[in-house]
Amino acid sequence: MSLPSRISIAIGLVSSLLTGGLIALAQKPGSLLFKPGLFEIVVVSAAAGLVMGMIHLLFINRLNSEVKQLICHIESLSRSETRSCPQGVKWLMPVADQVDRMLSLMRAKMDQLIAQRRELDVQLRMVEAERRHGEAILNSITDAVIVTDAFNEVALANEAAARVLDFELDLAVRKPLDRVITDPTLIKLIKDTREGGNVSLRRHVEHRVRKAGNETAFDVSLACVSNGQEKHHGCEAAGVVTILRDVTREKEIAEMKSDFVSAVSHELRTPLSSIKAYMEMLVDGEAHDERTRGEFYNIIQAETNRLQRLIDNILNISRIESGVVKVQRENISLPGLIKEAIDVMQPQARAKSIMLVETHTPLFFQVFADKDMIYQAVMNLLGNAVKYTSPGGKVSVTLAVDESRRQVTVSVSDTGMGIPGDDLPHLFGKFYRVSEHKKVAKGTGLGLNLVKHIVETVHGGKVSVISELGKGSTFTFSLPLADVSR
Ligand code: ADP
Repeated sequence: MSLPSRISIAIGLVSSLLTGGLIALAQKPGSLLFKPGLFEIVVVSAAAGLVMGMIHLLFINRLNSEVKQLICHIESLSRSETRSCPQGVKWLMPVADQVDRMLSLMRAKMDQLIAQRRELDVQLRMVEAERRHGEAILNSITDAVIVTDAFNEVALANEAAARVLDFELDLAVRKPLDRVITDPTLIKLIKDTREGGNVSLRRHVEHRVRKAGNETAFDVSLACVSNGQEKHHGCEAAGVVTILRDVTREKEIAEMKSDFVSAVSHELRTPLSSIKAYMEMLVDGEAHDERTRGEFYNIIQAETNRLQRLIDNILNISRIESGVVKVQRENISLPGLIKEAIDVMQPQARAKSIMLVETHTPLFFQVFADKDMIYQAVMNLLGNAVKYTSPGGKVSVTLAVDESRRQVTVSVSDTGMGIPGDDLPHLFGKFYRVSEHKKVAKGTGLGLNLVKHIVETVHGGKVSVISELGKGSTFTFSLPLADVSR
């Protein structure tokens, strides 16, 4: 019920009470000097009603205008706008002032809260950006990184770790380590490191992981994270940072290098010992006749040549690789060069009863190349063909010219032992040897690498191989035809 209605009811009640009082007085015998009749009562009541009505009208109007002003005032305050409000009696103004003060306070508080919220939003965005940045850094590391906390739960990990250790990165965080990875050795290593708690110690362990039939060698580095609480025996580990670095290739290279060194030393020692032995026999006068002496000289010469070839191979590769090789290009006749190489290789082939033939086209053509280098490449291919072909086999050299592509191809085919398919992609790599062939013949794994360097790096040609295990191989290289106008 509104205030004016309540006041009206109150005024009505007061005038009714007055009228009622008058009637009561009139009824009471001897209580009044005069006895009011009905007319007087009606007049008095009407007068009282009139007076009350006037008071009511006056009061209600004032109250109404005052309340309206107050409402208008409060509305303008709450909307933070200045508008002209109707003027009235100022007795409600303290209320408006109070509301005004309260609103100002609330507005100030609100502004403060909005500012705080904005600041928090900025901080949140910064933290989020930092988190994403950290995550990006972690994921850009090619090594697998996995960080566990004091409860042996995964606190951090990167994509490489998820890939290597086969787990779902998004689901790993805050999960017990043994529910994330399955590798028992790694789980134990991390557990032992945490329990050991020596923060000043970084352990390095070699560990191999088998996945889809492939074995990968890792250098696992394990380090404790300190929680800062000093203990009398050291620092208690709050967690462990584990980094797995793939060292498979390094190991292979180290193995290849050591194989290479032993192969080279063996290769060097064999001709050297034979040179030494024949020299000693000559010095001691053990070669009694001219024919024997000639035989010894020939052996010494052949072994010296062999030594030189080996050393040349090593030096040539390193010179080509470092870009310091001197290339002397000229127009050379490839059929002539191949004939020369076959003639030199013939005794070796004959010694193994291998038929060595050339099937090149009788056409005269030239290539613009470094003669010695191409000769070396052909010799390496021929030498291999004879080396990896059993007695009674056949080695043939074919030359073909592709005029439209302005190139010449040289193919050396043999009926030898062939090469397993898995080895083919690695064959031209440095120090690479087919493991089954290591028992068959000595070698350094450098010959084909040199061929590739000579043909591709120096002459811009292409070298390739096709092979069938047990049936034989064909090595082909192509060179650009010489420009006859040159
Ligand atoms: P190597 O001194 O060992 O012969 P190469 O670089 O010349 O070194 O050859 C690399 C490897 O390629 C050899 O060890 C051998 O396993 C394989 N290979 C090369 N040529 C032949 C071939 N004609 N037949 C079969 N295997 C070959």
